Amino acid sequence: MAFKPANSIQDLQYFGEFGGVNPSISDSSTYTFLSAKTMFDTFEGNADGCYLYSRHSSPSNLYLGEALAAMEGTETANVSASGMGAITPAILQLCKAESHIVTSRTIYGGTYAFFKNFTPKFNIKTSFVDITDLNAVEKAITENTKIIYCESVSNPLLEVADINGLSKIAKRHNLKLVVDNTFSPLSISPAILGADVVIHSLTKFINGTSDTVGGVVCGTQDFINELRNVNNGASMLLGATMDSLRAASVLKNLRTLHIRMQQHSKNALFLAGKFERDGLKTVYPGLKSHPSHDLFKSIMNEQYGFGGMLTIDVGSLKKANELMEMMQNKNLGYLAVSLGFYKTLFSAPGTSTSSEIPIEEQKAMGLTDGLIRFSIGLDADIDRTYYMMRECMVELNILDPLGRKIPV
Ligand SMILES: *Cc1c(COP(=O)(O)O)cnc(C)c1O
Repeated sequence: MAFKPANSIQDLQYFGEFGGVNPSISDSSTYTFLSAKTMFDTFEGNADGCYLYSRHSSPSNLYLGEALAAMEGTETANVSASGMGAITPAILQLCKAESHIVTSRTIYGGTYAFFKNFTPKFNIKTSFVDITDLNAVEKAITENTKIIYCESVSNPLLEVADINGLSKIAKRHNLKLVVDNTFSPLSISPAILGADVVIHSLTKFINGTSDTVGGVVCGTQDFINELRNVNNGASMLLGATMDSLRAASVLKNLRTLHIRMQQHSKNALFLAGKFERDGLKTVYPGLKSHPSHDLFKSIMNEQYGFGGMLTIDVGSLKKANELMEMMQNKNLGYLAVSLGFYKTLFSAPGTSTSSEIPIEEQKAMGLTDGLIRFSIGLDADIDRTYYMMRECMVELNILDPLGRKIPV
């Protein structure tokens, strides 16, 4: 039977203290014990259901974590104060000094910088590979390798990882497959496809209101317990804990994720099709021209579509900047990083979210100057949006007056 992530979220029911339809928020950093013995046992991790201190766990964070674990089909999950606050402890927990990581070379700029500039302090070395080339992935593995890391749909180039294939390689070499699923919540279920650990930046689609940063690590009970261990757990000790009030707020937004993802995907597919027909170089996994279109189709939970992210290339950074400024002036969206908002957001990744990646490497991975990354919003009238965007492109001589791409 097909995995139904939205059903799994919906079927979890928590009532508030007074029969509230939302769970009560636990507005406390610390918890009392009726006996000193129970406090000791809780420190030792032997008193299930007792709360100790909110950096370790809190009821509100557990509610949100359990809903996200249900969505990803993992045993449990641990929420954190940001996406990077989920990624970095998960990596550090799985590695020790001298460990080696094989990662996709097209990943979120912050994650890239962590592997490239930060983990080498602990002699942790990382090989950056083309994740769509399974042979290259397997060849990069050494005796010190602990992790294969990727994004299910990569930022910003929208490459799709063959999670099944990667999982087989990981199992063969006794490695953990860690997948960042931020770009494709509900559409792709990495754990069901064989990932050991699934991570999200909740900041993006899952929260969906661009009012906070947040993150989650979904995995086995054993792994999440390790992360939370008071003596050597990276999440516990590095301390990127989400606040309870915020966890309650993210949980409420999660309730509408399935509806939002359908609209993001529908709007993005519409615009991508139009842009491509106009002759613009368009990358969207829902287009037949996308190199991983068939792969995405074969692994997706169909009703959520191919996601809300697309890129176009308008030839130069200058044109990209002019277009983004004009679209913002016409209120078609905001010139802003991040994604998953009700409003369309656009940015030029080379000079913003991927600027951590050196120019030569950007070129090698196909990240061009004129690339604009769009997070398509929830526009009720996407047809109107398209015609207004096209007007901008005509005005800037990107398209001719008949709406055809002008060669550069
Ligand atoms: C934004 C993002 C992150 C980092 O999340 P924060 O919440 O900003 O810390 C990680 N991975 C991907 C794919 C992202 O888009």
